[in-house]
Amino acid sequence: MSTPGPNPADGGPAVDGGDLAVGVDIGGTRIKTVLVQQGSVVARDVQPTPEGLAARFGDVVAGGVDRLLAVAAGDGLAGATPSRVGVVVPGLVDERRGVAEWSANLGWRDLDLLGALRGRVPGRVAVGHDVRAGLLGEHLLGAARGVDDVLFVPLGTGVAVALMTAGRVVRGSSWSGELGHVVVDPAGPRCGCGRSGCLEALTGAGAVGRRWREAGREGDARTVAEAVAAGDAVAQRIWNHAIEVLAGTLAPVVASAGTRRVVVGGGMAQAGPVLLDPLRAALRLRGPDDALEVVRAELGDWAGAIGAAHLPGTA
Ligand SMILES: [Zn+2]
Repeated sequence: MSTPGPNPADGGPAVDGGDLAVGVDIGGTRIKTVLVQQGSVVARDVQPTPEGLAARFGDVVAGGVDRLLAVAAGDGLAGATPSRVGVVVPGLVDERRGVAEWSANLGWRDLDLLGALRGRVPGRVAVGHDVRAGLLGEHLLGAARGVDDVLFVPLGTGVAVALMTAGRVVRGSSWSGELGHVVVDPAGPRCGCGRSGCLEALTGAGAVGRRWREAGREGDARTVAEAVAAGDAVAQRIWNHAIEVLAGTLAPVVASAGTRRVVVGGGMAQAGPVLLDPLRAALRLRGPDDALEVVRAELGDWAGAIGAAHLPGTA
């Protein structure tokens, strides 16, 4: 059973992979779970995120773990008992206290995640932040393998980042990684956070799609990427502007941290070289490292759950 105490997700070695661990990634619309054994995903499951999650967080996560173990049993892993469960959530997360401070999508404030999970799931429990866990997942099993100075940039409707230096995920205050709400252009478009000209309001998938429609076209960020590849001048102008703004904001972070590889995930990374090639060129132009790597994430939507299963330390 779990024991009380501070959430030690901010330090200590990762699990050695010699036993079974469950990772749970709580999203605004879906909850993804994975069972990991010796560094490999041996079972996975997805379920819709239920209404009113905050009030029954422990029940929902416990139910999700049970579902996952049933899937595993169907795959020949009957009787599998995880020794630890890691749960990650979006928004502002104080990983040291194990508290989800705020999430726009999930509508909670100061939700005691560790308290809700203690005694509800098998083995020890740790909680974390979805993007930071995603970086951990990509480092262990994905596009950040073999590199210890990494910036993970999931680009979707929202824009947040996670930073790894010297092989450790940077876990500061709950504001860590909220680069999407750095104001880049105070005269820019209104952001969902209430301010204007945030990075997210200029380079997020929603922002790119909106500019496209304002230009009289139909579609979303994916349409724009396809039009860029087809040589459409309007699309290229919108796309290049977003990349310039993004590179201008990421470059100081990369230079400060000594980042050697930028791993781009999220929906916009599906554009592949249409996004990665110009972003790489723009970052190399701005930063001191002209060998900086810019690559696409490999684990897709599963990075957070896989990272959750490997959160270092469990209470
Ligand atoms: Zn904002």
